[in-house]
Amino acid sequence: MLTVALLSSCSKGWERADYILSWKGDGLGVEVSVRTISDTLRFSYATENGGVKDQLKWFQDFSVSEGKGKMDSLSRVITFIPEKGKVAFSYTVRCTLPEGYGSPGGCIMDVFRPDIDSSMLFSRTENIFTVPVDKMDMAVSVRWESVPPYPVFSMYNAGRGTEPFEGKAEDIFSSVMAGDPLLEVDTVMVDGRENYLVTALRKNPLLNKEQLKDYFRTFYSTATRFWKDGDTSPYTMLFFPFRNNTWEATGNGFSNGFMSRYDASADTVLNVSRRDLFTHEIGHKWIGNGPAWFSEGFNEMQTAYLLVSSGITEPSYFATYFGNALSGLWHSPHRNVSGAEAEEKFWEDGQYIWLQYWRGFCYAFHLAGVYERETGNPNAWKAMMDAVRPLIYDFSEEGFLSAMASLMGRERLERDYRKYILEGEDFDFFEKDLPSGCTIERSPDGEPLFEITDEAAFAEHFR
Ligand SMILES: [Zn+2]
Repeated sequence: MLTVALLSSCSKGWERADYILSWKGDGLGVEVSVRTISDTLRFSYATENGGVKDQLKWFQDFSVSEGKGKMDSLSRVITFIPEKGKVAFSYTVRCTLPEGYGSPGGCIMDVFRPDIDSSMLFSRTENIFTVPVDKMDMAVSVRWESVPPYPVFSMYNAGRGTEPFEGKAEDIFSSVMAGDPLLEVDTVMVDGRENYLVTALRKNPLLNKEQLKDYFRTFYSTATRFWKDGDTSPYTMLFFPFRNNTWEATGNGFSNGFMSRYDASADTVLNVSRRDLFTHEIGHKWIGNGPAWFSEGFNEMQTAYLLVSSGITEPSYFATYFGNALSGLWHSPHRNVSGAEAEEKFWEDGQYIWLQYWRGFCYAFHLAGVYERETGNPNAWKAMMDAVRPLIYDFSEEGFLSAMASLMGRERLERDYRKYILEGEDFDFFEKDLPSGCTIERSPDGEPLFEITDEAAFAEHFR
């Protein structure tokens, strides 16, 4: 899944927004006091992530006590006119998810709505905090006046429960908050660094914790080395059961952690498909920006690649993983829509969402083959990621093409980009362009079928 960041610009150092949270028994009260030098200030509430359109249903009891404020209900932007440099307003976030709630198309969207009552709290923080949309670097504080009847974990204030937080608006905008009577926070050391495992396990807590910790130690260590990630701040893994949903799992990745919601009746959290999901979400720490074919599709390639190179699974599993993307793309009713349409309709239904995962993965695989053919180096993924590393937080089409052109002929690169990504034509997968040790055969009706032909040669890609 995607996370978005709002544009930010410089603001004067002493401008600030202070948030006070209070437990209302059936929701979360939010009081905001702002000090500013501006004549007008714009605050925005929630996002359209997940295709959600009814955000204002859970934004209740809105009232302005200092300055004047008016909300545009379509954009959910509140424009304030401060009074003597001050604005103060309050609202209550009140929402629980109905039983069996899920969006059409198979991709569950529970994670993009707040789910708050006296037995559980789960929310992306964009649904809790209104933020100064043009000044995301504004200083903010968050203080709890009264707390829910269970422990709470906030990813923006990791490991500090409901203690006061000081930071910037961007810190509290795109994050997660969770509370539950069974919520526990464990510390996991990886390469001498402290990280957090947050769980609220319904079943086999000891076994599940050990499995999740082992997986994280192995995988995160490989991934941070692969990316030469010097970030020493703690990373959070938050595993939180769905309230009443039997969907296997879904998740969101952030730069400082990821969260997954999963089927609460599961005996073992870490099965193979959830492991792949968690790996994908952790991957968003490094590939989380840009159009979905890149942020999701290249991230899928990263997921399959790092699962093998970390030793968690065998090269043959890459074949399974990539085979699913090939097949998914081939059978998608939207397989040949333009790149612009694919991006625009990303949240429309599950078929559009997965389209970009599959198309981007196929494109990344195609580029890996072209790179190997032109350079003779089988370790294409490492070279490709080294090339795009500078733009992973600030993606542009031109930046991407220039980065890739340092690895292969530009003319061919631009032609293929136009053909496969912008125009949505079928991938050719010419035999001569494929990475070594594998082949793509065609079924009688043209469906591409991936096969490893030389295991030793194929394993070279993951060294
Ligand atoms: Zn994703």
